[in-house]
Amino acid sequence: MAFVRQPTDLPRAPRHNALTTRNVSCRAMHEATVVGSLVTLLCEQAACRNLTAIRRVNLKVGQLAAIEPAALAACFEILAEDTPAAGAELAIETVPIRVLCTDCQNESRISNYDFHCEYCHGTRLDIISGRELRIESIEV
Ligand SMILES: [Zn+2]
Repeated sequence: MAFVRQPTDLPRAPRHNALTTRNVSCRAMHEATVVGSLVTLLCEQAACRNLTAIRRVNLKVGQLAAIEPAALAACFEILAEDTPAAGAELAIETVPIRVLCTDCQNESRISNYDFHCEYCHGTRLDIISGRELRIESIEV
């Protein structure tokens, strides 16, 4: 665990055994893994900045990140328990998929996972957004 410092009165790291002991609403393993890292990052931020509570977490989640917001919220509720992030509101902004066509160099937005260029209908595409999964900001 990469905590800078962790005095005893500061919150503990997320309990990773929470999944096995309270495996009720947090069954989606992909989301659980993602939320585990998210909670660890939030604990690090809280420790660095001497925060005792985080009120809201603004996340950017790409459409290709394969995250189900409801599963994310359910996992977060369990894994954030007893940390400064407990009870924080998760605000999820979905980032659409955008691609760059390597044939005509135009950018297209992809809807319904239909991967083709809007201009030349080519399928040789580089993904330029839609994979992200990041903390945009934290409100305390
Ligand atoms: Zn094109």
